[in-house]
Amino acid sequence: MTFESLGLHASVIQALNEAGYTKPTNVQEQAIPAAIAGRDLMVSSQTGSGKTAAFMLPSLHKFASAQQTGGAGKTPNQEMQASRARGERPRFKAAQPKMLVLTPTRELALQVTTATTKYGSFMRNVRAISILGGMPYPKQMQLLAKNPEILVATPGRLIDHMESGKIDFSQLEILVLDEADRMLDMGFIDDIEKIVDNTPATRQTMLFSATLDGVVGNMAKRITKDPMVIQV
Ligand code: AMP
Repeated sequence: MTFESLGLHASVIQALNEAGYTKPTNVQEQAIPAAIAGRDLMVSSQTGSGKTAAFMLPSLHKFASAQQTGGAGKTPNQEMQASRARGERPRFKAAQPKMLVLTPTRELALQVTTATTKYGSFMRNVRAISILGGMPYPKQMQLLAKNPEILVATPGRLIDHMESGKIDFSQLEILVLDEADRMLDMGFIDDIEKIVDNTPATRQTMLFSATLDGVVGNMAKRITKDPMVIQV
């Protein structure tokens, strides 16, 4: 099995070649074609299985394909320039991400952001930023002002920005819950529900967890639609 045979966009393949990945891992082999086809996923997998690429590669594929067909519209920078050219004064606009990855910890969020930057390095106009508790607000406002396509966040801080109108999820296409069981163990259930309620019902949802039993399985069923269940 190769990454090409999974149907990934050439710009994603190029980044994988650069990263020295020669073949997909087990979870990637199962998750990537289903995610490209638009399916929701419930995946039981461990750290080290290659789960980050399993959700990020098909997502980047989707954005690369949309850019190619012109479906992505103007980039935020082009919009800003057009607005200036019309003589409009710059004003605050909420960030409108296309993808949100929720993680239990700051460390994991930073790892996912770094991996995303690596996998997206041959694509234009795809930026990923981390929204983390403990990070200074002015710095985060600067990052959000660039209207990044991809947000990687821990739930608590994200809620702050959502409730103060800094982030608008109406354009969200893909929602990922990474290490969902750990997020529940850490008491994030209410935050997660609140965030999910603010995203469009039309989104694609991918949930990754060490286990899909009990509370996490119930939540997974609530927030996904006809999911493909993958056990690695
Ligand atoms: P993860 O399970 O997402 O934390 O990934 C574990 C490690 O495996 C990371 O360092 C990735 O860079 C690496 N990795 C992921 N997919 C592949 C692959 N197909 N080939 C080689 N390394 C990979």
